[in-house]
Amino acid sequence: MDRAPSRQPAGLCDSCRHQKLVPNTRGSVFSLCERSRTEDAFPRYPRLPVVQCPGFEPGLPVSSQK
Ligand code: SF4
Repeated sequence: MDRAPSRQPAGLCDSCRHQKLVPNTRGSVFSLCERSRTEDAFPRYPRLPVVQCPGFEPGLPVSSQK
């Protein structure tokens, strides 16, 4: 039986354009911060849920835009 990927709510990241959702092979989905690629102040996988973040920018994740 197929299961939908499980994911913990990511708080602010879920409405931030810098979020990228990364599935693993065991059916979990992790919230990656794309800002971590260029800015050391941001962890690659922030502790969830994120309630405050100086890098938050509302919008669709860049990685989901075509
Ligand atoms: S910038 Fe902040 S709110 Fe946006 S994805 Fe990264 S950690 Fe989450």
